[in-house]
Amino acid sequence: MEELLSREIKRFIRAHPGNRLPDSDTPYLDEPLVGFSLAEDRIFHDYRQIIGSFHLLPDELLPGAATVVSWILPINRAVRVSNRSRTELPSREWALTRVHGETVNGALRRHLVKWLIGKGHTAMAPQYSPLWKEFGDTPVGIASTWSERHAAYAAGLGTFSLSDGFITQRGIAHRCGSVITNLKLSPTPRTSLNHLSNCLHYHDGSCGTCINRCPVGAISRDGHNKTVCRELVYGTAPAALSELYGTPQTGCGLCQTKVPCEAQVPLHRK
Ligand code: SF4
Ligand code: SF4
Repeated sequence: MEELLSREIKRFIRAHPGNRLPDSDTPYLDEPLVGFSLAEDRIFHDYRQIIGSFHLLPDELLPGAATVVSWILPINRAVRVSNRSRTELPSREWALTRVHGETVNGALRRHLVKWLIGKGHTAMAPQYSPLWKEFGDTPVGIASTWSERHAAYAAGLGTFSLSDGFITQRGIAHRCGSVITNLKLSPTPRTSLNHLSNCLHYHDGSCGTCINRCPVGAISRDGHNKTVCRELVYGTAPAALSELYGTPQTGCGLCQTKVPCEAQVPLHRK
């Protein structure tokens, strides 16, 4: 069943007509990585300490939950390359991927819920739960009742980074998502040394390339300032580019492109 579900996620992303740059066959999002974690994994309790007591457990979102299915949708090379030359604000291709790629990601969440229900299981997407809430001012900054990246970590798909991103085998430039189901699946092993080990800064104190890529100084050796980042991502960038690009949001992603972790775990580039 794990294989069948992974194949369905990959098929959906490959075939979705919205997963194409305008007037092009180039997809926004490449073949997904897929992982599974047990709903009863202690790590979801740990997240209540690490993120905040408001972070929900899988069975608070879906009574009888057995598995959290997580995926990474790697951003296509053409989109990443377009953003590499940018130094202040994101490229048009990046902005289109932020909006239309995320629409495809949302369609995948909904499709997978229906697909699982169609096979006789229960399922839900935390992102679309009435219990999903975002909090602006927590001890860890802006946070929500469900973190897709923490679900991806639980499912063995990567580790966190200095820039507050999530570095997978296909790098840090991606969209990610999850659904919860009562279908019991085998968990994907977490093989990383620790929750930060894919980032060179945490691995051996080197790199820090993302620090200089950020146009507003939101990243330092001390970490990522979510508030400063958001001012650019949800303020300055859309104010400057939304009309030009025809997108309500633009993202930014400068710290996710032209960096060693853009499309791989960078440890071999030590
Ligand atoms: S650019 Fe370097 S320091 Fe920044 S997240 Fe990537 S590996 Fe870590
Ligand atoms: S997304 Fe943009 S503003 Fe935010 S940390 Fe990365 S480079 Fe800086």
